[in-house]
Amino acid sequence: MSKQFDIAVIGSGASGIAAAVTAARTGRTTLLLDKNPATGGTGGFSGLTTLCGLYDDGGNFINDGFAKEFAEIISETAPVKMGRAWVLPYRPEKFREAAENFFASTPKLKTRWNTPLKNVVVESGHIVSLNGFNVGAVIDCSGTAEVAFAVGAECLATDEKTQASAVIFPLQNVTREMLTRAAAAQVLLPLARAGFPPVNFQSNLEPNSVTVKSTGQPEQVPQLIEFLRTHVHGFENCSTPLKEFPIARRAGRMIVGEYVLTGADVLAAKKNPDAVARCAWPIEQWSAEGVAKYRYLPPGAHYEIPARSLRAAKIKNLFMAGKTISADADAIASARVMGCCLATGAAAGNLAANYLGSQK
Ligand SMILES: Cc1cc2nc3c(=O)[nH]c(=O)nc-3n(C[C@H](O)[C@H](O)[C@H](O)COP(=O)(O)OP(=O)(O)OC[C@H]3O[C@@H](n4cnc5c(N)ncnc54)[C@H](O)[C@@H]3O)c2cc1C
Repeated sequence: MSKQFDIAVIGSGASGIAAAVTAARTGRTTLLLDKNPATGGTGGFSGLTTLCGLYDDGGNFINDGFAKEFAEIISETAPVKMGRAWVLPYRPEKFREAAENFFASTPKLKTRWNTPLKNVVVESGHIVSLNGFNVGAVIDCSGTAEVAFAVGAECLATDEKTQASAVIFPLQNVTREMLTRAAAAQVLLPLARAGFPPVNFQSNLEPNSVTVKSTGQPEQVPQLIEFLRTHVHGFENCSTPLKEFPIARRAGRMIVGEYVLTGADVLAAKKNPDAVARCAWPIEQWSAEGVAKYRYLPPGAHYEIPARSLRAAKIKNLFMAGKTISADADAIASARVMGCCLATGAAAGNLAANYLGSQK
């Protein structure tokens, strides 16, 4: 075995970016690997254009540290109020570029793309190596608990019934105003009458452009666009730059940690003595019919995510962040949003570094 890294981070979406940069900034040699050819994960590649979970319900940053730093760098506009919560509209290319710049300016960090996780070796309850590298600690930011799955550690799951998948794509050259719900409803009605599966429109930062989230199948997207072009005023010249329309899955797999964060904790705005991140995003669940159900925290409240929910229960040097934290299906329906993923990523980076410090 040729090389040793103090910390390995698997997955370079919002949580992995935060975890890897934070871990390396503590002075620990850090390896970030992803099966994809570039950094970004869901936030950089799915077509999403709103970063949720960064703010409290007054529109103020809810976490300092890397989540705020990253948001400030990609920010091109003020946060926008959506229902009772605030979101940051962003461009995916800026999200990816910011991540690359962070990596380039973090000396202790090495990245490997097109590198799926493999050969995870566990000895005496510790991961000792993966992908042929000796490692001191591991942070699973894969969104689907790939490390835990590879070593047979206990996982929790959320499912498609409460977290339906969607096909996300941008539509350009839309000359119709889509900002308000009433405006969007006038477009949704003809689509529903024509038998298309439920669709959600969101204005984004590009002028005359909207982000579409469809509960339909990828092969229905060209028909949907053609219908809009021929039947809906303001969409006559609309088009999408995408050639393929992958399904984006809200549902994932979580690792059982020392504590399982619950939906009751979220709604009660529970505080914890070992808190490492804050979140005020509601429990947001999507049905197969494309309807979102929101359960909000009390006004002005936030809950705290404990360090115990970022530490695997049985593997002593395995930490997790983002969509894989130890949470039940209700709690992850809040904590999975990207602002929170950035915060738990940064926290996991620090926890892994502290763990190594405690082993000396
Ligand atoms: C339809 C939909 C709409 C959403 N809308 C919003 C929204 O508007 N705002 C918001 O804030 N959030 C939204 N979310 C939630 C949010 O985007 C995700 O929960 C969040 O981005 C997850 O970040 P992550 O870092 O945990 O994982 P991901 O971003 O999924 O990153 C995981 C990374 O791990 C890599 N990986 C996976 N397996 C392996 C492996 N075996 N080996 C190596 N690498 C691997 C992947 O390639 C990927 O790069 C939405 C999600 C979906 C699906």
